[in-house]
Amino acid sequence: MKLLVAIKRTIDYNVKVRVNADNTDVELTNVKMAMNPFCEIAVEEAVRIKESGVADEIVVVSAGPKQTQETLRTALAMGADRGIHIETEMELQPLGVAKILKAVSESEEPGLVILGKQAIDDDSNQTGQMLAALLDWPQATFASNIVLSDQGAEVTREVDGGLETISINLPAVVTTDLRLNEPRYASLPNIMKAKKKPIEVKSPEDLDVDIKPRLIVLKVEEPAKRESGVMVESVAELISKLQNEAKVI
Ligand code: AMP
Repeated sequence: MKLLVAIKRTIDYNVKVRVNADNTDVELTNVKMAMNPFCEIAVEEAVRIKESGVADEIVVVSAGPKQTQETLRTALAMGADRGIHIETEMELQPLGVAKILKAVSESEEPGLVILGKQAIDDDSNQTGQMLAALLDWPQATFASNIVLSDQGAEVTREVDGGLETISINLPAVVTTDLRLNEPRYASLPNIMKAKKKPIEVKSPEDLDVDIKPRLIVLKVEEPAKRESGVMVESVAELISKLQNEAKVI
């Protein structure tokens, strides 16, 4: 079985994100970028499935500008076999990405497409769901466990009240939650080997998809600054402050 993993290049999760000067976006100039953490979990899961012998090929796909290839190389160093880069400088929104991934899924014919549950930059949590709808394939979102066979998959999902296990037919779309696994670090020899793995470059036009943005961002703002706290000497002082200053009791 072939696995297709969709990965996104986002601001590194360790970076303190700042809003740009004209409040139209977050600042991206000279900011460290990395693979979206939920996508790392998706790549790790694909590698584990291949290691277990159920899958024999892992294809990673990412859409974005030229530098996106660095992120694809990271996935190749983690154990993916080949990459597909859909190169575009255009702003990408979940529907556009889902259309790209649909076209790639139709030509690659994977048994399973694995995505992150959300990208930590736009927090959309939409692409996997839209992809499953466009393909008319079953979907299992927020996966914390995947048991795969040639016929189907049993996926445990993180839901509000606990865990839900569902059975789906293949081909299907799965999105990863935080507790699915702990991604490995790529070893130096694997980073060297990844340099020789193939990355095919295509444009959205090659796939014949319309990725025009459908949403306009009106404004981006920093959250309100939090006031610093004060230490109180006693419970009596705390109650007095809550009654007389904060006026909440
Ligand atoms: P989102 O719906 O934007 O929160 O993203 C959810 C998931 O969709 C990500 O974790 C990726 O697996 C996938 N995805 C989003 N944007 C891209 C992209 N530009 N290229 C490839 N996959 C993407």
